[in-house]
Amino acid sequence: MRQNDCIFCKIIADEIPSQTIYEDENFKVILDVSPATKGHALILPKDHFANLYELPEEKAADAMRLAKKMMAVMTDKLACDGFNLVQNNGEVAGQTVFHFHMHLIPRYKNDGEILKYIAGNPSQEELGEIKRVITE
Ligand code: AMP
Ligand code: ZN
Repeated sequence: MRQNDCIFCKIIADEIPSQTIYEDENFKVILDVSPATKGHALILPKDHFANLYELPEEKAADAMRLAKKMMAVMTDKLACDGFNLVQNNGEVAGQTVFHFHMHLIPRYKNDGEILKYIAGNPSQEELGEIKRVITE
């Protein structure tokens, strides 16, 4: 299950270079070429799925299991102080490569603010409205 114009499918097929830090039958983990911090890596399933909406549930579980494993190894080897897992779905969410991937971002003391959320300040009533939309 490959998409020919997909850059990550090409990386998985070793048609374009990458630094692979882990590989098994179903996944490849590579270093990001534009790292947010030292060691920023990407978990790529070898089959092409555009995003988490399309990724089968079992593969999503496998990806998270692998993320936990990689996080432990990388924390040990890189001596980082924390970790962000980031996973973007859709252009508005910042996705630029439409082959599912999970970012593994080691964090170091004083490495700066690399992820920014615009904080709102809704009342409990407003949050309750959103809750009703999601749950009813
Ligand atoms: P996203 O914005 O979540 O779609 O993330 C795509 C990520 O892929 C970005 O962080 C890019 O720096 C990274 N990227 C794009 N092309 C390559 C490549 N050839 N090798 C490694 N990482 C890449
Ligand atoms: Zn692909």
